[in-house]
Amino acid sequence: MMKQLIVLTALFVVVIGKETFKGHQVLRITGRDEVQHTRLQELTDMGHLQLDVWKKPIDLSTPVDIRVPSNSLQTVKALLEDADIPYSVMIKDLQAVLDQEMEHMGFRATEPKHTDDYDYGNYHNGDEIYSFQDMLVAENPNLVSKIVIGRSYEGRPLNVLKFSTGGTNRPGIWIHSGIHSREWITQASGTWFAKKIVTDYGRDPVLKAIIDHMDIFLEIMVNPDGYYYTHTNDRMWRKTRKPNPGSSCVGVDPNRNWDAGFGTTGSSNDPCQQTYRGPMPHSEPEVKAIVDFVKSHGNLKAFIDLHSYSQRLMYPYGYTKNPCKDQRELVRLPQLRNSLIYCETRGKLHFSITIDWAYNQGIKYSYTMELRDTGRYGFLLPANQIIPTAEETWLGLKTIMSYTKDNTK
Ligand SMILES: [Zn+2]
Repeated sequence: MMKQLIVLTALFVVVIGKETFKGHQVLRITGRDEVQHTRLQELTDMGHLQLDVWKKPIDLSTPVDIRVPSNSLQTVKALLEDADIPYSVMIKDLQAVLDQEMEHMGFRATEPKHTDDYDYGNYHNGDEIYSFQDMLVAENPNLVSKIVIGRSYEGRPLNVLKFSTGGTNRPGIWIHSGIHSREWITQASGTWFAKKIVTDYGRDPVLKAIIDHMDIFLEIMVNPDGYYYTHTNDRMWRKTRKPNPGSSCVGVDPNRNWDAGFGTTGSSNDPCQQTYRGPMPHSEPEVKAIVDFVKSHGNLKAFIDLHSYSQRLMYPYGYTKNPCKDQRELVRLPQLRNSLIYCETRGKLHFSITIDWAYNQGIKYSYTMELRDTGRYGFLLPANQIIPTAEETWLGLKTIMSYTKDNTK
């Protein structure tokens, strides 16, 4: 009886410990002019409404996606209608979509002993992604090694997979996913890329040519603490998990924590905001580890930062209106691809400080890719889209990597 009680209590704690999103809606709002955009901005700044901006507008014609908790819905809809701002309901009940996601995850094969048996068409928790990396290294010792570039705030290893056929300090390509923990399609795609590289090395001449000249570094979980937290507590968690002294709000937006235009446009100094930049540049160990690695390597030629959602490709700069020196080339490069999956956008309201920093380190081919979708499911992309998303993104990655190889010494 006692034992049953303990089990029951434990279950209860898990259930109530997890954030629920019952009745939350995601609204797609299209401000039609400058005035309406200002109204929208004011709305999202109202702290008591606890709104979560999923997607900022890129310009006046693109919509804003906002998650609205159930108890703010009436107020928000009334405010929008008062201001005559058009909106539609993108997700009617967020918890229902989350329940489906959880149910599908339950079908995955647990603890495969080989990466051939890993379920690439499903989402995985942090433990599973860690053990995937170890298996991949053990299975392919001549092609893959693991570098631990640091530890997260909660002490998890920051693993980087190095794909290399030898040589010393060859030019390198950096790819990372999961800097924002709730963007699950990125960690899932990163895992797929790792397997794709070892599978295709012997049979894809384009990939072989790349790896015979350059090393590829892939960090699948840039923000592991956040990623674990999305599984255990709050599926919508975006930031790191370091407490902020003097505030009850936890975490920093690691994509605003770089020493590039720090403290300027597009980031917040409020620890309770999703875009909180942190107390100083590189305050987050997860960011600092990449900074140290990039600087000590000294020979990276491309830097690719994966996010979701929007299906866009972005290049520097975002933090300043000044075009970067290589803008013409950076815009042209993606057009080399056969199929244009992504629109190209430079900075403006939507940007990545991460690649601005990378570019300023002299890494010319710095890009951010926002993976699927364009706004049906947003961050909750159904698992059956993982492999198609990874495949299309891989084509883009290969183009950038191949071009980088051909255009660097
Ligand atoms: Zn992101």
